[in-house]
Amino acid sequence: MPEPVIFERSTSGRRGYSLPATTVPEVMLDLALQRDDLNLPELSELDVVRHYTRLSQENRAIDTTFYPLGSCTMKYNPKVNEEVAALRGVRRIHPYTPGTEVQGALHVMYELQHILAQLAGLDAVSLLPAAGAHGELTGMLVIRAHHEHRGDVERLNVLVADSAHGTNPATAVMAGYTVRSVQSDARGNVDLVELRQLVGPDTAGMMLTNPNTLGLFDENIQEICDIVHEAGGLMYGDGANMNALAGIAKPGDLGFDVLHFNLHKTFSTPHGGGGPGAGPIAVRDYLASYLPDPIIRAEPNENGKFFALATPENTIGKVRSLWGNYAVLARAYTYLRHHGAEGLRANSTHAVLNANYLGSLLKACYELRYDRPCMHEFVLSGSRQKRHGVRTVDIAKRLMDFGFHPPTIYFPLIVEESMLIEPTESESKQTLDEFADAMLAIAQEAETAPETIKRAPNETRLRRLDETTAARQPDLAYSRESHDPQEN
Ligand SMILES: *Cc1c(COP(=O)(O)O)cnc(C)c1O
Repeated sequence: MPEPVIFERSTSGRRGYSLPATTVPEVMLDLALQRDDLNLPELSELDVVRHYTRLSQENRAIDTTFYPLGSCTMKYNPKVNEEVAALRGVRRIHPYTPGTEVQGALHVMYELQHILAQLAGLDAVSLLPAAGAHGELTGMLVIRAHHEHRGDVERLNVLVADSAHGTNPATAVMAGYTVRSVQSDARGNVDLVELRQLVGPDTAGMMLTNPNTLGLFDENIQEICDIVHEAGGLMYGDGANMNALAGIAKPGDLGFDVLHFNLHKTFSTPHGGGGPGAGPIAVRDYLASYLPDPIIRAEPNENGKFFALATPENTIGKVRSLWGNYAVLARAYTYLRHHGAEGLRANSTHAVLNANYLGSLLKACYELRYDRPCMHEFVLSGSRQKRHGVRTVDIAKRLMDFGFHPPTIYFPLIVEESMLIEPTESESKQTLDEFADAMLAIAQEAETAPETIKRAPNETRLRRLDETTAARQPDLAYSRESHDPQEN
């Protein structure tokens, strides 16, 4: 059994600092500014190091564990990215430094704009959005600006597939639109009959993820884009999950007009702790003038090229301070240059192969809801296990006893007891086999010893937490009283 948790380690009189002897005369501070009633923990430096190192070891992270969290693309984050982000010229650059003195940084961003435009099959890029959801909002505001600029103000609806990530409908609403949800058909594609019924002169556009959050490539993607375009709407591509397409297919060629990337997913900058991230958008040429301010332009001069910040003519304005999350951009740029076009294609191919391999092993014991070749991820349903009283959340908790991070659960919403599994290209066949063995052992247990699963996790320091309260009322400030040893 794990040791009991002792969170409170403060011991009266311990100190975690030592100041050098002063070389200037001592001055007495105003007594009114001095306090001796601060409720702070008293710890030595070693106590603090051990406390945080221990906490970090209790965490499940991509650097310690297989992490198949579907839709989140928890691939390996190569350490060379970190080395580049830590270079003095990257880390210490001040955002108010005049452009003439940071030509290198502007050059990196200019090239990144160019590479992302190529991968998207689109023409112009803004690096500013700080996350995928922020890219969505920026992209939808660009679409709105385009319609308004043409005086086309009757378009009030945005179509969103029912398999979409929750950020899509939220984005459409924040951009001022009404959401019209479009069903998926039995093969996991957008239902074309319903799409035709919903589309019309009031359609501003459609937000679609392809491959969608079922891990499936929509077999009618070009027809979908044609239907929306013929009605005068634009196609917004949620490109958070480009891990199956990058280097293989360009969303612009499929018919998308605007696309966001999640650099922190596909292009491997660390995420999972809530940021920072980056969600650049790419758009077709006729939308470029609406991009947020600033973009990076190259102007030829006598020394070659000069890189400058520029304001697009009909810009929607500022969406973020300064230049975006530059350290994330530098990491993604490193990743892209390190792999090159061939490397990206190989990564996407392996990501798809790994997902199909793992799906083929797991469908022996779990219901594979859409049994056709998947892209970078696939959806299982825990419906068979539910008959034994074991729910998907129980399976997820039990996986932690086997040393794995659970997959995404209860998303997508349209599959009962869903598990969305994304192995990524980083993992070896051996790891995938180990994970499959654990999943198959749990399926066995569901029939023979369901109570073991329902009690899980049994091997972690804390057991089942009240996740809702933890998310809604987080207890983040130190207070001696609130950190009494947990009973669990
Ligand atoms: C992750 C994800 C998003 C949102 O990205 P954030 O960076 O978390 O805001 C949007 N759509 C899909 C399909 C995603 O997987």
